[in-house]
Amino acid sequence: MKRIRLNILGIVQGVGFRPFIFNAANKFCLKGSVLNTNNGVVIEFEGNERNIKDAIEYIKTKAPKGADIENIIIEELEPKGYNKFLIKESKNTNINKISIVPDITTCEECKKELYDKKSRFYNYPFISCSSCGPRFTVLEDIPYDRANISMKDFPMCEECSNEYRNPSDRRYHAQTICCPKCGPILMSNDTKINIDDIVKYILEDKIVAIKGIGGYHLACDAKSDIAIKLLRERKKRPYKPFAVMMELEDVLKNCIVSEYEKEQLMSPKSPIILLKQKENSVISKNVNPKINTLGVMLPFSGMHIELIKRSGPLVMTSANESEQPIIKDEMKLKGLINIADEFVNHNRRITLGCDDSVIRCLDNKNIIVRRSRGFVPQGIKTNKSGPPILACGSDLKNTFCIFNNGYATPSQHMGDLMNKDNFDWYVENIQRFKKLLNINFEYVACDYHPGFQSKVYAQSLNLPIIEVQHHHAHIASVMVENNIKEDVIGVCFDGTGYGDDGNLWGGEFFIANAKEYKREHHFEYVSMPGNELAIKEPWRMGLGYLLNTFKTLPDIEFVNRFEKDAKIYQSIINKDNVFSKTSSVGRLFDAVSTILGLRDITTYEGQAAVELESIAKDSGDSYYFEFDNKIIYTKSIIEGIISDIKGGMKNEYISSKFHNTISQIILNTCEKINKTTGIKKVVLSGGVFQNLLLLQKSYNNLKSNRFEVYYNNVVPINDGGVSLGQILICIENI
Ligand code: ZN
Ligand code: ZN
Ligand code: FE
Repeated sequence: MKRIRLNILGIVQGVGFRPFIFNAANKFCLKGSVLNTNNGVVIEFEGNERNIKDAIEYIKTKAPKGADIENIIIEELEPKGYNKFLIKESKNTNINKISIVPDITTCEECKKELYDKKSRFYNYPFISCSSCGPRFTVLEDIPYDRANISMKDFPMCEECSNEYRNPSDRRYHAQTICCPKCGPILMSNDTKINIDDIVKYILEDKIVAIKGIGGYHLACDAKSDIAIKLLRERKKRPYKPFAVMMELEDVLKNCIVSEYEKEQLMSPKSPIILLKQKENSVISKNVNPKINTLGVMLPFSGMHIELIKRSGPLVMTSANESEQPIIKDEMKLKGLINIADEFVNHNRRITLGCDDSVIRCLDNKNIIVRRSRGFVPQGIKTNKSGPPILACGSDLKNTFCIFNNGYATPSQHMGDLMNKDNFDWYVENIQRFKKLLNINFEYVACDYHPGFQSKVYAQSLNLPIIEVQHHHAHIASVMVENNIKEDVIGVCFDGTGYGDDGNLWGGEFFIANAKEYKREHHFEYVSMPGNELAIKEPWRMGLGYLLNTFKTLPDIEFVNRFEKDAKIYQSIINKDNVFSKTSSVGRLFDAVSTILGLRDITTYEGQAAVELESIAKDSGDSYYFEFDNKIIYTKSIIEGIISDIKGGMKNEYISSKFHNTISQIILNTCEKINKTTGIKKVVLSGGVFQNLLLLQKSYNNLKSNRFEVYYNNVVPINDGGVSLGQILICIENI
């Protein structure tokens, strides 16, 4: 006979952990208790030693899907001779971050009930249990209890209430429990409707705004060219790819899916995964024009499961006007009146809006493009101590991040803060997080950029401010994820970020640690004709790079197309202070894309580079490039590309050769730095590395030359990850 105490840390509350432990105790004939505390779940097991061991193993391997066990602390105690196993009532004292859980996709057991005619949850769109259902997006206050979530609007019926109170039921203390008798319903224009009604709209090629978990989606038939064309016209979104929701068997038919990607699709987070699309895919080409990846997610709530089963693959795109916050309230729907034909609501309030998360997979690792539903508000363990900090993030693809008790908690995707509605949402959301985490900030961190709204906000807080260089923050975000303490070679390839010298950086090689950085090498500065306009109009960068390379512009199709502009810019481009200068590799990708005739003006961020990546057909060749001691020159690369164009080489080949060149530059530069410093750890970060072809080539190159290589897997590799890096740099500089 033995008695032990287990303290389980991590995401173990709000995921059905206590009923799971209760059943485990019965299974292994153990007595004792389980209790939720501020510091994780505390279990006492008393019984046969062998059984206790088996029970611990069972907990480690069979925990509910939404759980994430970080650590189990085991302590042996004197046996007490308990006679039963109890679920003790939690003490709702000061609650800390562990009590807030991300939304969890409908679990397998709930799915079974959804299909089971005899179940009282048969076909019920709002089915959930202790292990699944909305969490973050229904939360109004802490602790996570029925009274503090928007489900409080629905008093439980007797059956629900009995299950809620029964420790051996899988809905024991399921705060979102509800059924057709007592729970939310689907509605359209204030009348109750069924899933079949939605399917009918879809089959008529209508565009339907559907309220989901974290906000409204616009849905239409993913096989219908007509419906998608309509959606693009009405949403004024000519090219940006849409995500498609479909059942797993349809994903396998339409996309090339690795085992790992399949696991990610099926995870309780249910993110959108960007997959290689098959040639014979039946999804309309209007969904993702000119690119070879398709964003796919599985249905993640009872309503979506029921809908997709009947409708087949549906375009599911956030229902907002472009670059606006996701719509979560009926009141905001007015803006969609000219986009959607039908509106499907439900009467459960969404308290915190949250977009779908987006991921690409590389070598069994995640490259996060957007970290929102399913991930937020999961904290990241930092192994750092320090006062509570707010990091305000970057202005593009914003997330903010909160540091408290050693954990960094990034917000969901907030979007671009230049947009007023996004900025208002940002300020509101910071207040919500502050309240939910129950903290007062002592420091605030923000980007250097003098024009950033996030910086203006930081300054308004009247707290000590630590300003952080944008690319240093990118590199530091990887250091947090991997707990790297020593100096690294930081390779940051980005769209734009404000540099120490006032120029726009983005092709940077740093020697960096968590506290400071030194700029070792960078791409040469090139003028941006038209300044910021050049960010959305790659043809301007095309001219910028050509004018930087040639005295007389070459006779190619691109130059003929922009002959007039070329003449105008030729005379002024080299004059000082006319145009901003940039070392951004993102802009270099844009330039190559437009010079090849792929994309002159972008309609969404990164479009020119994405289309360039999409066409690459592998070749082993690369362009010649030149260095001097600090600077990597682009002239010979541009010359090489022009000579290939004139020589009639295909774009597919030139694109691949260009990708090879950039990854070769990364390797050579890292070798240079390694020679003088001995540093072997390389960190890759920045939006340019969303390009998997580039990331994979660079990674493989470095690896096979015995570098240790790290890149972001936990927060976005783009500007969505900046806030996490700001936290670390702030801690080190306080
Ligand atoms: Zn469930
Ligand atoms: Zn009920
Ligand atoms: Fe950036």
